[in-house]
Amino acid sequence: MIAEVIVDIAASETDRIYDYICDDNIVVGSRVRAPFGGKIVPGFVMRLKETSDFPPERLKKVLPCGDELPALNAECLALAEKLTARYRVPKALTLRLFLPAEMRTGKVRELYRNYAELALPIEEMKLAKTAKNQWGAAVYLAENGKTDCAHLNSAYPGSVAALEKKGYVKITKEQRLRDPYKTVTTEKVERTLTPDQQRAVDTICTDPRTVQLLHGVTGSGKTEVYLTLIAKCLEEGKSSIFLVPEISLTPQMLSQLRARFGKNAAILHSGLSAGERFDEWWRLRTGEAKIAIGARSAIFAPLENVGVIIVDEEHDSSYASESAPRYNTFDVALLRAKKNGCKLVLGSATPSVETYKRAQEGEFSLIRMDKRINKRPLPEIIIADMRREVRRGNNSSFSGALKEEIEKCLSEDKQAILFLNRRGYSQTVICKECGYVAKCEACDVSLTYHRDEGCLKCHYCGTKYNMLSACPDCQGKKLSYAGTGTQRIAAELEKMYPTARILRMDNDTTSGKEGHYKILKTFAEKKADILVGTQMIAKGHDFPAVTLVGILDADMSLHFSDYRSGERTFQLITQVAGRSGRAEEQGKVVLQTFDPENEVLRFATRYDYEGFYQNEVSLRAAMAFPPFSKIVRVMVTGEDDKKCIEALREVYVELERLYTENPDKFLFFNKMRAPIKRIQNKFRYQVLMRLCDTSVLPEIYAICAEARNRDALVSVEENPSNLS
Ligand code: ADP
Ligand code: ZN
Repeated sequence: MIAEVIVDIAASETDRIYDYICDDNIVVGSRVRAPFGGKIVPGFVMRLKETSDFPPERLKKVLPCGDELPALNAECLALAEKLTARYRVPKALTLRLFLPAEMRTGKVRELYRNYAELALPIEEMKLAKTAKNQWGAAVYLAENGKTDCAHLNSAYPGSVAALEKKGYVKITKEQRLRDPYKTVTTEKVERTLTPDQQRAVDTICTDPRTVQLLHGVTGSGKTEVYLTLIAKCLEEGKSSIFLVPEISLTPQMLSQLRARFGKNAAILHSGLSAGERFDEWWRLRTGEAKIAIGARSAIFAPLENVGVIIVDEEHDSSYASESAPRYNTFDVALLRAKKNGCKLVLGSATPSVETYKRAQEGEFSLIRMDKRINKRPLPEIIIADMRREVRRGNNSSFSGALKEEIEKCLSEDKQAILFLNRRGYSQTVICKECGYVAKCEACDVSLTYHRDEGCLKCHYCGTKYNMLSACPDCQGKKLSYAGTGTQRIAAELEKMYPTARILRMDNDTTSGKEGHYKILKTFAEKKADILVGTQMIAKGHDFPAVTLVGILDADMSLHFSDYRSGERTFQLITQVAGRSGRAEEQGKVVLQTFDPENEVLRFATRYDYEGFYQNEVSLRAAMAFPPFSKIVRVMVTGEDDKKCIEALREVYVELERLYTENPDKFLFFNKMRAPIKRIQNKFRYQVLMRLCDTSVLPEIYAICAEARNRDALVSVEENPSNLS
């Protein structure tokens, strides 16, 4: 047989199919070891055929890797080919998405354990009466069957070896799958769906459209809808994919999933060790587990016969990949859903403008859940005007209103969450007296402060502005270029409330496999009164005793230099506010801002998504920002400046040709240095485009694939979330 093999080297020179001779037992999708350039490299069998166009004496032979099942099933192979064509990256890179890294590097040692079982009936054994341990072990085995030798030996020391020597027990080696969630407690809760939830499930199952948008307020019980859909699939023998943002894989979520689906669920997340991740993947591949749960990469789960794909918090920015191939999780999910003829369910309290627009236009089905399960109104949001606080001489991070609420909360033995917005932190100039924010005259997005050059820049058109020494609106001198960290907030709190138990959660405190989990668990067990944190605490958590949420700097993300900053701010406030008052008690939210008249904040405090959406969509239309256009950035990066410029020139010439041939498809086209010229010793150049017609997109990818060379990386980003 001849195997068409892709070698696992992510370089454009080796990015093609090679013919090899192989044994007849090799199947499509399996990993092989291929002699290549004097070395043995791993590869994948893409297709099999009888003959090759090359003379047989020129063909080498591939060897099997010894996997029990081919690493890639037919669906994954087909999907990989589609993605390769779409994003024009080396095939090896796309294939890698489908495998746990550990499998490629061969670093996981599968864990084996010895198990003992009786080799003959206990009556036939001739054991001395005094051999107490051997008797004990034999009786145990007779009663319990096959048992872990380590376990037996600890209960009956020395018994296993002695029994084996006499031929009374048989020892077998078996693969023991690691259980990453030993510490997760499971409590099974049986629930009947509310009429709203039932209606959502029914619509999703019967509506003919592939994409179903579940727009439900926080606490409306979306999770239960997802779990019901997954359970239905399981009953029908189908598999499911359930995607959540990484930080939503909270202890509550894990235990709920474990309790509901037990070993049928494989949970993949970054906190797992290499071995654990491999095991979970393997359970999916063998079909032992039928539910893949995880962050965006779980969309590549090795499943067959998928019955439903769920993307929770669909608006979350973590669904866009930041390294090649820069796939969009939604696009991949849609391909898989169509291939399997199943539904793709998107859930959110604050859908992205793009998704909502498509639902409004009827392309997606739109299901609303407007009420919280506990029938309580959403928490009241009070705006605290920080300009007034500054004018009054309050230079702390806490407004009078927030302090008052914290005190009330503490005295009533309830819990509070204080949220600090780190996104966009220290990037924008804001006047602390009037709330003025510096914006680009042409693009209407906030300018970003570049400390190294001492200037302000617009990331959308490249214009530079001088630094400000005073506010152009009120002539005030209290300009802030920096935000505050969680550490300082926690310290301030400790000083104000010495007896309160304060917990901090941010990137510094959540290292280690279970750091995240431990902090949340401590808080859930009411071993702390106040939780201070960043974006990480915004989503998914369900703490019944929390009645107060403080948003310390609501406008920080509003002024992030991104056309989506309004959308992000609305989403963030809604999510964070949703943490308050989830049980019996009515919740409250204090939102601190330097810009209390801001429209986005106003819509957010009223939970008026529809109003926000209408306002936002007309702004986007007026400025021709997505979804009315597509922003495409071609980045050229590399350590050698000259080589980068060469590569840039090469792509630029071709892109410019494309532009001049199709001027009506471009709204904007420009070559420039990236706003941050160098990151980690790599020079960065970009060609920034805004397209009103995406039919030129495949050609843009093709041009960039051509220009890729050893010393310069050329990548394409679509609607990047960060233009720095
Ligand atoms: P969402 O994901 O929409 O924010 P959740 O799924 O977290 O909302 O549900 C909010 C709360 O309601 C949770 O505490 C959940 O356990 C509870 N809940 C959900 N569905 C039901 C139901 N059918 N009966 C009782 N409680 C429910
Ligand atoms: Zn601009």
